[in-house]
Amino acid sequence: MSISKLASSIAESPTLALNEKARMLRAKGEPVIHLGGGEPKNKAPITAILGSAAKLTAGDIKYAPTDGLPSLKKAIVRYTEENYGRLVSPDNIIVSTGAKQSIYNILYSILDPQDEVILLAPYWVSYPEMVKMVYGIPVIVTPEDGTFQPRFDEVEQAVSSYTKAIILNSPNNPSGVMYPAEFIAQIVNFCESRGIYLIMDDIYHRLVYDGLSAPSPYDYTDKDIGNTRVIVVNGVSKLYGMTGFRIGWAIANRRLVEVMTNVQSQITSCPPVVSQAAAEGALTGMQSLVENLRLTIQNNRDIMMQRLQAFSDVKVSRPHGTFYCLPDFRAYDRDSVRLAKFLLEKALVVTVPGKDFGMEGHLRLSYAGSVKEITVGVERMKWALDPNAPNEIYIGDRKMIRDWL
Ligand code: PMP
Repeated sequence: MSISKLASSIAESPTLALNEKARMLRAKGEPVIHLGGGEPKNKAPITAILGSAAKLTAGDIKYAPTDGLPSLKKAIVRYTEENYGRLVSPDNIIVSTGAKQSIYNILYSILDPQDEVILLAPYWVSYPEMVKMVYGIPVIVTPEDGTFQPRFDEVEQAVSSYTKAIILNSPNNPSGVMYPAEFIAQIVNFCESRGIYLIMDDIYHRLVYDGLSAPSPYDYTDKDIGNTRVIVVNGVSKLYGMTGFRIGWAIANRRLVEVMTNVQSQITSCPPVVSQAAAEGALTGMQSLVENLRLTIQNNRDIMMQRLQAFSDVKVSRPHGTFYCLPDFRAYDRDSVRLAKFLLEKALVVTVPGKDFGMEGHLRLSYAGSVKEITVGVERMKWALDPNAPNEIYIGDRKMIRDWL
């Protein structure tokens, strides 16, 4: 079989592969705890369900404009004004099949072969692969001080004449860290003055804790939407727990939106109308739901932090947002892929190796699930790794004895 060099170099999404593995183990009746998940547990908002049900009931489900239904774009205009303090027009918006497709469309539309995109480690697993898929080169900046917060001068040093874009994701998947407003301001200024695109992946921007709020990049530029290099990506997957609807969007200057629309028209034609109606329902419905989700996850974060303290040798930065944290497990194993495999085999706990996010020696743990999953999951991990933990545990109804420490 002949497969292209490029396609064979693209890694499988490790998070989706783990979801599949957890699903298969559960289907076999194994009591798996999934701390690898990237989606909240809530049901879709009722307004989203009613919106999509109305489309289904009408039975009139056809192609729609490539860049999104006008009524959804109107809701996104309002969302952007309310959450970013920026008035944009429908021409500045393209709706896609998930924020993932929005990011891919942007990269496809701005990169020539060999152009570079700066990514900050730890980074979302898909960025380097997507950059490679459009023949670009990912350039990774890893904070030297061992934190998850790169300094501006470290980013600046990585810029070359080939740099076309910088991607920021704050709050960040996988660390949960939110970059300070000052850092965002520096990057916005730098990108505007150097003509480099700043892709703000804001998919978690309202899942922020402790009374903080995610800075709006538009606050730090005086360029209007037609001239700014800032592109904001957002979607309904995380904030409303609507991952399966696959709706995201990008906000950019009109010319770039036109180009992305041409690209999208040749790939998916348009995002599904039933999903777009659901996204519109979510954006125009009661927003208290997002607040409830935020509070639930903040509580889960607190429980996760408290439970992880039981590991004397695990270091963890307290997340400001998202539903992830990225503890340092190097005291137990420096190879995160081996460690994640070990935890799955011995303790039936799914975690995601930090290696996939550019942070070897760490594991990404999700606290989007239930309190029970968090407490039992961490207890099992402690049993498997820590010689000070009792050496017997029940996994499901099986009594397990640790005989490897
Ligand atoms: N960006 C980040 C940082 C994410 O974590 C995810 C989902 N895991 C996405 C984008 C993609 O979201 P969507 O479901 O809208 O494609």
